[in-house]
Amino acid sequence: MNEQRFQQIRMVMVNTTHPGNIGAAARAMKNMGLSELYLVDPKEYPAEKAVWRAAGAIDVLENVKVVATLDEAIADCGLVVGTSARERRIPWPLVTPRECGDRCWFEAEKHPVAVVFGREDRGLTNEELHKCNYHVHIPANPDYSALNIGAALQVICYEIRMSYLSAKEGKAPHFEEWDQPPVKNQALEHYYEHLQETLVKLDFLDPGNPRQTMTRLRRLFNRTRLDQMELNILRGMLTSIQNYIYHTDKKLEPPKSDNG
Ligand code: SAH
Repeated sequence: MNEQRFQQIRMVMVNTTHPGNIGAAARAMKNMGLSELYLVDPKEYPAEKAVWRAAGAIDVLENVKVVATLDEAIADCGLVVGTSARERRIPWPLVTPRECGDRCWFEAEKHPVAVVFGREDRGLTNEELHKCNYHVHIPANPDYSALNIGAALQVICYEIRMSYLSAKEGKAPHFEEWDQPPVKNQALEHYYEHLQETLVKLDFLDPGNPRQTMTRLRRLFNRTRLDQMELNILRGMLTSIQNYIYHTDKKLEPPKSDNG
């Protein structure tokens, strides 16, 4: 069993306030065999409190990558799962913690995967959640469903370890194989910029009042798990549309009907 897969699975903590929680996360990760911790703009780090709470997992802290934005933390990932303590307005494809573990373990053979955790006080923003392929919710007491972030991270890492152990016994669930690699998160973000720019030029999207259009398009493309070839085709189409607009220097005319 390829234990190096553990290194392809990263935990990402966004804007963490309490350094103790970072230490707790490091410990939870090491207990389960994981080592890749990314901190997006933490409030206080490095910090003594993180070292105390990490106990024997100092090596995970020493290996921490501190980055400025979530985009940087997930740029090279082919699978991104966002954690959420509550239901959101626009539902996203949801996996259970167990399915999350299975998917992460299966896909980590091919590309880096990330599980993203939010702020202690208000979780992840909608914009951050909309960068994910799936959301995962730990089914806790509905009257009190927000776990401490270190505890939530422990549950997710435990499920990844369970998937590793099942796979070791040849019992891992199998997901579809694909001929092309999935797009990396950064390429998807570039695609959304290109798409939005084109839709604005076409007057399809009003930048002053975009409503939920881009969110719904993100959800469409994120849930289809676009591959790199498909993304190249879509980018090529957008470039052709933009060239057409540029060369005719006017708005696209409506298509003419056959019977004139
Ligand atoms: N009041 C915040 C709670 C955030 S809890 C909110 O409403 O979103 C801090 C972080 O812990 C969350 O962003 C998430 O990463 C994780 N977390 C806590 N409870 C969770 C749950 N039941 N399922 C999944 N993640 C959870």
